Amino acid sequence: MNHKNQQDLTVNKSNNKNNILNKKHGIIAIVGMPNAGKSSLCNAMLQQKISIVSPKVQTTRNSIKAIITLENYQIIAIDTPGIFIPRQDKILERVIVKTAWQALREADHIAYVIDSEIGVNLENQRILGDLKKENLPITIIINKIDKIKKSKILTIIADLANLGFIDIIPVSALTNEGVEKLTQFLKDKCLRDNWPYPEEEITDASMRFIASEITREKLFLNLSQELPYSISVKTDSFEVLDNKQLKIKQTILVLKESQKSIVLGKNGQMIKKIGEQARHDIAQIANTKVHLFLFVKVEENWMNKTENFDKFELNKLPQNKN
Ligand code: GDP
Ligand code: MG
Repeated sequence: MNHKNQQDLTVNKSNNKNNILNKKHGIIAIVGMPNAGKSSLCNAMLQQKISIVSPKVQTTRNSIKAIITLENYQIIAIDTPGIFIPRQDKILERVIVKTAWQALREADHIAYVIDSEIGVNLENQRILGDLKKENLPITIIINKIDKIKKSKILTIIADLANLGFIDIIPVSALTNEGVEKLTQFLKDKCLRDNWPYPEEEITDASMRFIASEITREKLFLNLSQELPYSISVKTDSFEVLDNKQLKIKQTILVLKESQKSIVLGKNGQMIKKIGEQARHDIAQIANTKVHLFLFVKVEENWMNKTENFDKFELNKLPQNKN
């Protein structure tokens, strides 16, 4: 860890090889439908967790960069929220989808993730059709191959070939099958000179932000049905104590009193469990002891207040594209 100051704390790995000449980098946007396994893949390529993962859709709300440094290459993988059709009256949904498209403006290459259980369905075809218009090279990643038969993989590859795709890589972010091959493949797409990040950096997201994302992940995992979508987590304070331990205070925003009582649970059992799980993961990533304090607050309609999006470190509303 780099304990620079509380705002600027970065997450990094602690190997320091000698500098290598002829450094290259590339920016790869990892896109696909919600739940395809984009965040899991970024974590698998990094061999460390930076992005939150959950079985519910729309877990990732903004774009996080995973910085994978391999030999003299730096693969900058942008983990984006899933692409879906947002409801017109939902600002949050529209921001999420716009954020995914916005990542493409920065990218040199698109890695499109398909859930192999879903295959090349109409929705994937529609998104792929739109992506082709971006005029960027596209690699297709067939994910979750641990869940399907080999013959189904071949069918998906054939479907993709019919659509004109050549670079197709089957992987499992869960078992890591094919992940190394994928990183090696993406490495060859790194054509830009130099490294934009120091070798030990693994993400552009701050530990402060990752900490709030982890709490959000635990809310997603522990609360049923629609509730997690009504929730946001903001970090009120993030302190590195003299003994290098972290003291973090976060507020969980909900829309209604009834939701507040669900998050708290009977005798505060639910919030206690969520707090313990979040503290465990944050401590593991930050590699230090963590003191985590969670508060729950009702803020009606936070989702439809544009001013909230910066507050939650969501990317700013893009100017064009709907
Ligand atoms: P995202 O929305 O595309 O970022 O998807 P996530 O990374 O959040 O993953 C969605 C769900 O799929 C989670 O429950 C993951 O654990 C699961 N998942 C992701 N990759 C794999 C995989 O390769 N195999 C299996 N079996 N599950 C996976
Ligand atoms: Mg995700």
